[in-house]
Amino acid sequence: MKIRPGAPRPSRSVKSGRTLTAWALGPLHDVLDLIEFKSLSMRDALAEWRTASERPVHPGLAQWTEHAVSSYLAASERIPVPTGVPHAVSLEPVSRLWARQRGAQKPTDPEWYEEMVTDRRYAGHGIRELRVVRKGSVTDHPRDEAEIAMAVGVLAGGLPVLSSRWEKNHLRLGSSEEPRLVRLVEIGCADASCRLLFEGTPEQAYACYDSGVEARIDRMIAGGSYRPGKSCGRCDAVATCPEVPSRPGLLGISGSDVPRRSWSMTTGRTYCKCPARAHLEDLFLPRESAVEDSEAVVRGKAVHEWIENRHRRTPPQPCEPDDTPGSAEAWQGEGWALTGPQVRLGVQMIGDHALVCPLRDGPDDAEVHPERPVVVYDPDADVVVIAKTDLLYRVGDRWTLRETKTVKTPSKEDLLAEYPQLALAVLLADAEALPGGGSCAVELERLTGSGPVVTDLEAAAPDVIAHARGVLKKYVAPWHTDTRFPTKAGEACKDCPFTRWCPDAVRRTDT
Ligand SMILES: [Zn+2]
Repeated sequence: MKIRPGAPRPSRSVKSGRTLTAWALGPLHDVLDLIEFKSLSMRDALAEWRTASERPVHPGLAQWTEHAVSSYLAASERIPVPTGVPHAVSLEPVSRLWARQRGAQKPTDPEWYEEMVTDRRYAGHGIRELRVVRKGSVTDHPRDEAEIAMAVGVLAGGLPVLSSRWEKNHLRLGSSEEPRLVRLVEIGCADASCRLLFEGTPEQAYACYDSGVEARIDRMIAGGSYRPGKSCGRCDAVATCPEVPSRPGLLGISGSDVPRRSWSMTTGRTYCKCPARAHLEDLFLPRESAVEDSEAVVRGKAVHEWIENRHRRTPPQPCEPDDTPGSAEAWQGEGWALTGPQVRLGVQMIGDHALVCPLRDGPDDAEVHPERPVVVYDPDADVVVIAKTDLLYRVGDRWTLRETKTVKTPSKEDLLAEYPQLALAVLLADAEALPGGGSCAVELERLTGSGPVVTDLEAAAPDVIAHARGVLKKYVAPWHTDTRFPTKAGEACKDCPFTRWCPDAVRRTDT
């Protein structure tokens, strides 16, 4: 859908509220436009943007934007001077997009298509330069040769776009002279880093566009399989997607003035800690390295991963009690730093799992999906729900969703309240939201210091379903109606990866 802007798409209800900007790079481009096309200083541009911005911007995004603008300008100063150009001259910003039309003679031919570059564009002295903005750093951004080839191909042979890119018809292109040199630069806004990805003549640019790139573009045009996940929250077609079942009323809430979003249990938990943090996560702002996990948390993750890898074997095989990492070194080989008592407890838990492994008595045709996301759309709430399940398996025509928890001592508390992802699992089972529909059991496997405990949640019982609904509502309802995502500074700041962008954050060094 994204590469066919003119294709018919399902109509979407128009939201009236003045909702927060949902595209993190939008404000950065707005401010850079003011600097480049209205010749404002950085200070004046930021001041004008703050007062004239069409959509409200979250204070965290505003703080990131200020940082990103100054990083962009600083990095731009450090881009190496183009070959054959004296120091004193600089390139002029270009407001029009560049595009080229390819594959056939006229737009009615089926092979006909258009390639376009956005981001920041500059030209002058026979040079065309594209600067691609990254939110994080360019130092850890992988080089994508196909992306580079496509971008420099358009820089070399593209023409200015005169029409709207969203029009149903093909683009109307102006004319311009072919450049003698094209340059592709990427800029990292987190640390003002920059990298020259390509510099060369148009001939050298076209040469990057080899058969491998052609094949990748062909695959993109042909489309492929559906991969439901986090991006469904912003997809226009989710309501009619064959891979995402629609279940009105799943979340038990309806109507809101905000655009379609995705929600997972992580969103719900983060929102409870601090609404602002949930919003900044949604914007994919760069994170600072997280606070280190406790020993027990590391052990839990290590046990989870070990079991998950065993469940990924093909054909599926049940776990064996002696198939465990026996020593601290063996855990390190798997990438986990565990010591002493945590090693022993972890080994015991994995061995215990073998006793209750759901693949133990499964028939040969049992289906096993470890860590499979279950994605469902609730049109009443206009929310795409994403459940990250530990293990989804099918024996005969019956699905089972199993969550595995490692706890030193099991509690006898209300399990749905203690593990709200189970409440979500119960509602997904009730909605018959799993592939092919049909009934679904929900199980909790607890690996404890005193042995394994598997509990069937009785997901079909009406009182369990009602309780699950109540538990989930506490996590979803406040998030769903919130349009400002205020900060809850204090305790939540301790392990928050966004404190650098949060004006209210209690800094780690302050505490
Ligand atoms: Zn197993």
